[in-house]
Amino acid sequence: MVYKKDQYIGTLLGCAIGDSLGMPVETWKPEQIRKYHGRIERLVAPIPPTDKDGKVVSKDEYGKIRPIRDFKKGEYTDDTILTLALAESIIEMKGLDLNHIAKTQLEAFQARRQNGGFGWTTKTAFEKLEQSESPLTTGLHEGIGNAPPMKMSPIGLYMDSTGDVDGGIEYARRISEMSHLDPRAVAAGILQARMIYELLQDNYTSQYSDKFMEKIMNQVKEHELKLTSKNSFIEEGRLQDKLQWINSHKYAPDAEAYEILGNSSKSHESYPFTIFMFQKYWNEPITGLLETINYGGDCDTTGAMFGALAGAKHGMFFSKDWIRDLKDSDTIIEVADKFYNTKLYKVLRFPK
Ligand SMILES: [Mg+2]
Repeated sequence: MVYKKDQYIGTLLGCAIGDSLGMPVETWKPEQIRKYHGRIERLVAPIPPTDKDGKVVSKDEYGKIRPIRDFKKGEYTDDTILTLALAESIIEMKGLDLNHIAKTQLEAFQARRQNGGFGWTTKTAFEKLEQSESPLTTGLHEGIGNAPPMKMSPIGLYMDSTGDVDGGIEYARRISEMSHLDPRAVAAGILQARMIYELLQDNYTSQYSDKFMEKIMNQVKEHELKLTSKNSFIEEGRLQDKLQWINSHKYAPDAEAYEILGNSSKSHESYPFTIFMFQKYWNEPITGLLETINYGGDCDTTGAMFGALAGAKHGMFFSKDWIRDLKDSDTIIEVADKFYNTKLYKVLRFPK
């Protein structure tokens, strides 16, 4: 028996733990993680990659390697910063208010602008918010990154708390479009909220992930709009084609899924890769999360998205060490607890 309150806590804590597990090796290749870290199984500090003479390198035999950033063991990045800001806005307003969400997202960004790991699209869009532009117009057509799904789990909690699925979906769209207008990024944002909601319902405790895949397939068809001339130059490839591949290769080797789906920061790579791992490791969330992280790529975000999904399904599945080592874990548990105990109102009308 998994308690609903633990599922709320698991959702937010899972995001932060996955983020912090992946943080030291974000963008690295799996071979580079093996070479410098062995295997990531705990929350660790970044290690500068060095050659045999101890000199810090920016590339090795596997390719470029991103220099480490200024994070300490147990710290988290933009994924969790923006997720918590969204959760706190919903609690404070007792529901969804786009202007308040934009204001609190902007404040969270400003507090960690230099050291939060924010992506280019988010930075550019939030700088427009800073110039008092309406959150209805700040999105960028080239925004194909995974910022929408990485931060959207509180909207799934809102849907569960109020039963207002349609309002939640419309808000997931608007929050995505505040920064990202590529239809794949927007759809991934909506899917993450919707699937968190689904996992909070009783009917997902079954042994098999078939129903989960069936649901996400019909959701992606409904919410992934066609590429237009404004964004089709970025790259071909649709979220629904990747999810279709997963649906017909549910038990493929992880390495094959990694090759075919990719796990870069693009929404139509990292989101399907996360979904593949989540459905494959349906009853083994710890193994699934660690495997996801150790494939590198945008692994603070694949970790955050996997962690949120797994927390929604399993509740507190984390090892005690992870919770102990995570920065602000008490605060995150308090926020989730408050979210669970706050009576929220449904959306009555959408901002125009
Ligand atoms: Mg990040």
